[in-house]
Amino acid sequence: MHDLSKDIRLPDGCPNCGSHRARVSQVGNPDDKVFCASCNTVIGLRADVMERVTKASPSEAEQLIEKAANKKPS
Ligand SMILES: [Zn+2]
Repeated sequence: MHDLSKDIRLPDGCPNCGSHRARVSQVGNPDDKVFCASCNTVIGLRADVMERVTKASPSEAEQLIEKAANKKPS
C-alpha cells in the first residue's frame, strides 16, 4: 500500500511547534484534516489550509492542487 499523503509547506507555521511542514491526504476531500508533519497537531481543514497556501504562494500551490481553476484572463 502506498502512503496516501503528501507534504505541503505552510505559509504560517504550526501553532504548536512552529514547523512549516504539514501532511495532507492525497485523496482530496475538502474537509480532510491537515496534520503537522512534526508533531501531528491538526493544522486545519484541507480546504482552509490550501486556501492559505494558495494566497501565500500561488505558483507553488498550483503544483499542489491538481484541480486547476478554469479562470480566464479577462
Ligand atoms: Zn507542529
